[in-house]
Amino acid sequence: MNSTTNSHTSASTPPQDLVIIGGGVIGLMTAYYASRFARHITVIERQSIGHLMASSTGETRSIRNDYLDPFYARLADEARTLWDALQRETNEPLIVDCGCLNLAKHSITPDLSKTYAALAHKNMADLGFDCREFDRAALAATYPQFDADYASLDIRAGVTALPAIRRMLLAHARAKGVQILENTEVTGIIEGADGVTIETATSTILARKAVLSPGRWINELLPLVNGIGQYRVPLTMVKPDWAYFVPPAGQEALYDTDHLPVFAYLDVGAYGHPIYVGHTPGLKVGFYHPADFDPVKSVIQRPEDFIRECLPGFTKVERIDDSHMEGCSYDMVADDHFVIGALPGYRHLLLGSGWRGTGYKFAPWCGKILAQLALQQGTVYDIRTFNPARFA
Ligand SMILES: Cc1cc2nc3c(=O)[nH]c(=O)nc-3n(C[C@H](O)[C@H](O)[C@H](O)COP(=O)(O)OP(=O)(O)OC[C@H]3O[C@@H](n4cnc5c(N)ncnc54)[C@H](O)[C@@H]3O)c2cc1C
Repeated sequence: MNSTTNSHTSASTPPQDLVIIGGGVIGLMTAYYASRFARHITVIERQSIGHLMASSTGETRSIRNDYLDPFYARLADEARTLWDALQRETNEPLIVDCGCLNLAKHSITPDLSKTYAALAHKNMADLGFDCREFDRAALAATYPQFDADYASLDIRAGVTALPAIRRMLLAHARAKGVQILENTEVTGIIEGADGVTIETATSTILARKAVLSPGRWINELLPLVNGIGQYRVPLTMVKPDWAYFVPPAGQEALYDTDHLPVFAYLDVGAYGHPIYVGHTPGLKVGFYHPADFDPVKSVIQRPEDFIRECLPGFTKVERIDDSHMEGCSYDMVADDHFVIGALPGYRHLLLGSGWRGTGYKFAPWCGKILAQLALQQGTVYDIRTFNPARFA
């Protein structure tokens, strides 16, 4: 537990400008940006910040701009600019810029021009993003680790370093006097004319506004809001199958962030992260059903299949499962868009949820928008697509 935290609320808590419920990356980013506009901010976390079941826990998350929907590609680029500003505040690396490589193979997806890799490249080139294409020979010369016929590289991409980011956000919160209440169960959220009353097991906190950012537990929190009725966020949990894989002895360096980008074959639902030396025990490889692309039925149905098909240097496959993977699922939204904005029918309650298994890279932008909505009466961004009222 950090020194800014308490395990129970204080009876003397003054009225707050903002209470944030949920201490994952979205809640902490909201506190970060809100602290520019307000002095009294409280974050309430039901467990401890960084607990193993939270989606923002682990070692790395990919940061990339290669979405097929230009809207999310532009949003990722916008968020990346905020990440770069955050990086300037600390000496610890928050992002490792190793790039992100999308792969395609004739034998698996015969029409290479229709693959995610090719479409993402076209999109990035149209948007003026830094990107590069490879045919088989060029790929073999640059990234001999892969067996593929086509690849496209998103250059302003890589991995985020989760523990360093959490440390940075908690240090900032401490410096700004943000109150962080861990192991605190919310029992009621009551909106009144001038603000919100948050009831916890041990106290009552008054606030001008509240942001609900409890990750995939949003539909457990919503019933605690007075008068909420049947409103829920239509979420489906998708559990990716991922693990770390140990490279052949003596070849570890070929697979680290200095030599390998983040990689993905999203047509078949496979992705991976290079070894982040000193932080991760091997190459991270996962398999899931992508949100924004219909997966092709193929021989790749598990991380091990991807390794066999696309990483020929892995002669022996040694899998290390991470304890963090147990509880972690992607929170897919019915219409495949984030949920950001006022809770329908409420003036002082904001919702930030439904990150479609891809929210980490967008977190500074999401936190900034939630802070602006809560404390500045709006944002300059057009966020109508994310309006929670679409499910009302
Ligand atoms: C396996 C996996 C891999 C991923 N990979 C990527 C990736 O490569 N790139 C990327 O950009 N994104 C990725 N994501 C998505 C990204 O990690 C999430 O979108 C992001 O971390 C969500 O943050 P959050 O703060 O909303 O949720 P969380 O981190 O889950 O935090 C929510 C917090 O709210 C707390 N809480 C819940 N209910 C209450 C309550 N009633 N009262 C108080 N507190 C409460 C929880 O305890 C938790 O700590 C991945 C997700 C998973 C699961």
